Amino acid sequence: MSERVHNILQISTGAELGGAERVLLDVVRTLDRRRFRVHVLVPRFGRLAEALRAAGIPTLIAEYWGRGHRLGRYSSWREYARALLSLPQVGGQIRAIARRANEMSVAVIHAHGIKAQMFSVGLAPLVRARIIWHVHDFLRHRRFWRIFQTLARLVPDLLIVPSHAVAREFPRWENVRIIPNGVDLEEFAPSSPRRAAGSRRVGMIGALAPWKGHFVFLQAAERVSRVLPDVEFLIVGDEIYDTTGHRGFRQAVEREVARRGLSSRVHFTGFCADIVPILQKLDVVVHCSLEPEPFGRVLVEAMACGVPVVAARGGATEEIVRDGESGLLVPPGDAECLAEAILTLLRDPSQLAEMGRSARAQAECAFDLREQVRRIEELYESLLA
Ligand code: UDP
Repeated sequence: MSERVHNILQISTGAELGGAERVLLDVVRTLDRRRFRVHVLVPRFGRLAEALRAAGIPTLIAEYWGRGHRLGRYSSWREYARALLSLPQVGGQIRAIARRANEMSVAVIHAHGIKAQMFSVGLAPLVRARIIWHVHDFLRHRRFWRIFQTLARLVPDLLIVPSHAVAREFPRWENVRIIPNGVDLEEFAPSSPRRAAGSRRVGMIGALAPWKGHFVFLQAAERVSRVLPDVEFLIVGDEIYDTTGHRGFRQAVEREVARRGLSSRVHFTGFCADIVPILQKLDVVVHCSLEPEPFGRVLVEAMACGVPVVAARGGATEEIVRDGESGLLVPPGDAECLAEAILTLLRDPSQLAEMGRSARAQAECAFDLREQVRRIEELYESLLA
């Protein structure tokens, strides 16, 4: 193991706190500071920069993609064309960040998300650093997959993916490493003593975004309420993406709550900076994405808090949740099955408690943040050896 302190530049695509940004935050807070000095580049001031600064991590804020930052899966070609106007600005940012990276002797650039990764393509010829791409999403169905794939073979030294499901997008690639996301198992822990029996609560946690399946959750909530009228439902999270097509979804969900006559049963908490006290109040966490999940950090957070999950099959969900042991798996988009699974758990408190214990045990074995960070440190060391 080398004795030197290595400078690492992490680049975030997002500025708020979704799954990928929470992963970045956890990793940079946990990396061994005696061996790695971390700097983070974020595209604008937001919850991520706030949390990084509170943790004492040097944070650089630069709109490194200019207008390109609003581009996303729902953007039109016209928007892409307009974003090209930002190219001179992006070029300026590339030169400025490369200069700083060289002044700071950055040894590794660790880029999270497509925009950060594409930015690192511009940096690559100008810096003396090894490059890691941390892929947090499925990309094969995205518009620029072919370009991404070509660049992913040429530019980064390594790719980190969080699950076998994402790794399958890169079959037989030698530079892909699977490192599952972990959580801080002391912070994410069951409440002690376990909360007293009272009204039962089922929560859905995550960004308010169309593919997360809030409408299916509400449909299931209506069915569950007909059988168990005392159950409360929590929708935790907010619209955090500022890319095109992500505004207005919250109002649509609120309208749906009213339309189904669930206003007294469903509560919106908004974005919660500290999710642990919420998790500790829940009996069941529902994760019902309509699209396969590349990871689903919420699943692991719930399991670490000893809360069983009902999750839609697809993507990494099946790698994380053991059906019948740490939770129940249901077909995506199927509100009837989802309601049945929630009812099965709520009707049997001893099974619920047993699953909660298994969920915690599984999180301890497979999703420990310290293990995730140890493996990332090992990768840094191996690249710099
Ligand atoms: N989250 C949060 N506050 C909220 C809602 C969600 O901090 O009000 C966090 C949640 O704890 C999790 C992340 O957002 O760490 C969501 O990650 P996940 O991988 O489940 O979904 P993604 O947003 O990446 O699609």
